[in-house]
Amino acid sequence: MAILNMSKTLFKSLFHGPYTTLYPIKTKEKFERTRGKIDIDMPQCIYCGMCQRRCPTGAIQVDKASTAWGIDRLKCIQCGYCTEVCPKKCLDMNNNYTVPSYGESKDKFSNA
Ligand code: SF4
Ligand code: SF4
Repeated sequence: MAILNMSKTLFKSLFHGPYTTLYPIKTKEKFERTRGKIDIDMPQCIYCGMCQRRCPTGAIQVDKASTAWGIDRLKCIQCGYCTEVCPKKCLDMNNNYTVPSYGESKDKFSNA
């Protein structure tokens, strides 16, 4: 019986093809609630620093003096906590595709 089950699995795997996608040539289809990149609506930000204080990985930096808001995308674990605590609701999580990059992982935005 075990051999029969194994054979079924073997044949299924032989004809199914790979379960992985050929990233980055092909991108996986996203579900409606897929968590993704943090976006900020800068004009709405009041630099209260709530997002920075509550971020569990220290990915966000808020500088009220220079009216700047920054995020280190490699540190972000996409928990979505910053979007929940922002009193102005100016943080949002989109599920747009982010192209692979060798560049800087930090993004900085400013109202100056
Ligand atoms: S989603 Fe989570 S880890 Fe990423 S910046 Fe917001 S609070 Fe920090
Ligand atoms: S919590 Fe919202 S309003 Fe406050 S600094 Fe962060 S993004 Fe700006």
